[in-house]
This record gives sequence, structure tokens and C-alpha cells, in this order.
Amino acid sequence: MKFPAEPFRIKVVEPIKITSSEERDELIRKAGYNIFLLPAESIYIDLLTDSGTSAMSDNQWAGIMLGDESYAGSKNYYHFDQTIRDIFGFEHIIPTHQGRVAENLLFSNLLKQGDVVPNNIHFDTTRANVEYHQAVALDCVIDQARIPSEPHPFKGNMDIEKLEAVIAKYGAPRLPLIMITVTNNSGGGQPVSMQNIREVKAVAQKYNIPLIFDACRFAENAFFIKEREDGYEDKSIKEIVREMFSHADGCTMSAKKDGLVNIGGFLALNNAKLAEKITNMLILIEGFPTYGGLAGRDLEAIARGLQEVLDENYLRFRINQTRYLGEMLIREDIPIIQPVGGHAVYIDARSLLPHIPQAEFPGQSLVIELYKQAGIRAVEIGTLMFGGLDPQTGKERFPELELVRLAIPRRVYTSMHMQYVAEAIIEIARNRSALRGLEIVYQAQMLRHFTARLKPKAN
Ligand SMILES: *Cc1c(COP(=O)(O)O)cnc(C)c1O
Repeated sequence: MKFPAEPFRIKVVEPIKITSSEERDELIRKAGYNIFLLPAESIYIDLLTDSGTSAMSDNQWAGIMLGDESYAGSKNYYHFDQTIRDIFGFEHIIPTHQGRVAENLLFSNLLKQGDVVPNNIHFDTTRANVEYHQAVALDCVIDQARIPSEPHPFKGNMDIEKLEAVIAKYGAPRLPLIMITVTNNSGGGQPVSMQNIREVKAVAQKYNIPLIFDACRFAENAFFIKEREDGYEDKSIKEIVREMFSHADGCTMSAKKDGLVNIGGFLALNNAKLAEKITNMLILIEGFPTYGGLAGRDLEAIARGLQEVLDENYLRFRINQTRYLGEMLIREDIPIIQPVGGHAVYIDARSLLPHIPQAEFPGQSLVIELYKQAGIRAVEIGTLMFGGLDPQTGKERFPELELVRLAIPRRVYTSMHMQYVAEAIIEIARNRSALRGLEIVYQAQMLRHFTARLKPKAN
């Protein structure tokens, strides 16, 4: 199937505003050339993130009406708890209002100064949460992941030798956990194979280090395993998910991704003692253990979303819609990360705009042009997001990749919207020499991309 037709029909519509390019020039200038500071109403197609932007199903909305808002022991909590234990197989489920709270709770209880946390690639909030605890966040992804055109089927895989080298260098006691991000968001939404999961688990077990998954896109990862890994073609998504997580000691989850909801998350653990400690902290910062910062109705929507996301027809559409956008760009020689990942298409801005040096944010330059030309919001994942001063050395750091991410909200845009996006990018690429770099006029110390203000470099 080449054209990924939607496996749903539309029952409610949300009109989107059409702005002129003059209006957008003014809006982006006022926003300090930072798309996080734009009013969302001024955006035609919003590909900033796939986080919390999903369209819920009629079944989920029906669940919202069945919210039990009891302070303690809401029936929706029991449904939420049971569903997660059934899908993932963990013992203790701690609801949180977002994924990063799950990270914070976990790291606050596990990390101390000088500890080291390996991951395939840490997501930005994960890295920030690790560094906040004065620990070191290390990326141990396979080398192929750093080469945008390398067609490896599981580019999210951890490099086992790198992992072993980290353990040899720092010693197992300084590694309170090993993480794997499925799919690997910051590396292009690339999957991790079951075999790699087993290999990482074997290392973790050898040194008695807990293995925790960053599970945000667990169902998309499972679909890739079914599609690409020998021996899984006849297994159901649910069976694959169960097997993946049977190798982990717990997970952090942002339900805003594969939970198909607009808010929510959880931390799941098998270690009862740790879960108890964290639950007490949850009461301090999020809320009572049976709601953890969420309303009863939110818990219900998550429980239903987690079941829906396992539907293979949904996942096939989801993955193919992303691939469809990517393939339209590949046909016009736009450099993107290949193979196309699960939730987003990542443009390699450094090869598209070689005339803009890394210090002048080539990715951000493309992001700004996309908004000005077509009302599309994408996001830079490059020097603006991951550069800045290294907390260890105090020196300016540059990431290996300068990417522009077009993240696709789940069940929100049609394949025709994807064609519009592709055409806009192809048009900009034709006139690429006109694009200029930017410089920062204000930045915060951490997670600077959210609030930084920039201005175009003078010619
Ligand atoms: C979104 C995300 C997080 C953080 O979740 P929030 O719900 O945004 O706090 C952590 N890890 C990965 C891989 C993510 O994509």
C-alpha cells in the first residue's frame, strides 16, 4: 500500500486558521525567532511534537465521561493499573502527570553526584534530569545511528561494546541504572531490536544493574520489530510488547505519546522497596498514589489509549504515514534520516544547508523558513537544543547531528496534509541559498531551546 489511507473516519473537526506570510513574518519576529514562543493559533500544520497532540477516539471520550473523581481509590485508577500491568507485566505502577516526573522521581531516588547513566540516546528531559542530579548522561547508541543515510533496520540499538566500556571505566557501582529509549527519539525515532534488548539485559544482569526503559513509543517500536526482525512476523503487537518489557526492571512512560492522550504518564517498577519510597515522594510532589497528578477521567483515557495503540491497523497506518512523508522528500533528494523513524521525519539540516555553520543554527534557520513560507511548525534538534555550555567542562558543545524534526501527531492530520508539508519543504530546498543563520540574544542555563530569543545574522 503506497498511499496510507486513514483507518478511521472523522466525526468532529477543528478548523485551523490560515495566516498570510506577512502576518507570519511579524509573528515570528515577535517570538524572537523561537517557534516555542509562537501562538499556536497562528500555525497551519503543527509538527512541533507528537507529544500530547493525539486525537482521542470516541471510545476514549466516552471513557472521559465515566471519570470517577474520588480522591482515593477511583475506579479508573484500578482500570489504569490493571491495564498497564497486563500490557507491560510490571508489579508497581505509579501514575504521574507527565513522563518527566516519572524520570525525576526515579532519578531522585537512584542517582547521586558522579553517577553515570548510559542510554542509547538520552531524550532532552531525561538528560536534563540526570544532569540536575549531578550525574553524567552517556549515549551509547551504535555508530550507524550517527550517519543519517545509513539504512540500518534498528538504528536505535545500544552498542554493547560501548556499554561494556562505560562499565569498565566507571565501575558498576556508579551505574545505578541502564536505560534504553524505545523508539530512540533523539536519534530519529529509530527502533531497538529484541535481540539488542536481550543483549543489553545480559550485560545489565552480569553486573547486577537495573535496566529501565524509556517507553514513550513502545508500540511503534514493537511494530518495527514485527516488520523487521526474524521470528516476530506472526506475533501480535501485544506479545512483542510483553516480551520486550520482560527484559526490563521498570519503565518511565509519557502517555502523551503511545498512550494516545493529551496528558499523563507513569513509572512502572518491579522493585517493591524502591516503588514504596517513590510513592511516598509522589504524595509530596504529585498527589495521592491513586491519581498522581491526574484526574480520574485522564486515567481512564490512558487505560483505553494503551489498548488502542496495540491495534495493528492503527500502527500500520501510523508508521506508513510517517514513511510516506519521508519518501516524498527522499524522491526530491532532501537529506533525511533513513530509514524513516516511527513518529517523525528528521531532515539533516547540515547537509541541506552546508553554507550555514553549526554555531549559526542551520536547523533553526530551516524551521523559521518553514513557518514563514508555509505556516508549518517543526522543531530544531541540534545546536539550539543540545548545544550550550557543557556543565562538566564549561566549553561550548556541538551535537553530532543538526536535525529538523517534523513530528506527526497521532490520528490528527491526513495524508493530504503530509503532501502539503512535503511540497513546502521541496520548495524551500530549491531556494536554500537564500537561507541565513541566526544568533542568540537571550538564553537560559538549562533546556535553553524552550525560551531562547534569537535574531537573523546580518548579511
Ligand atoms: C516526551 C518524552 C519524554 C518526557 O515526557 P513528558 O511527558 O514530555 O514529560 C521522555 N523521553 C522521551 C523519549 C520522550 O519522547
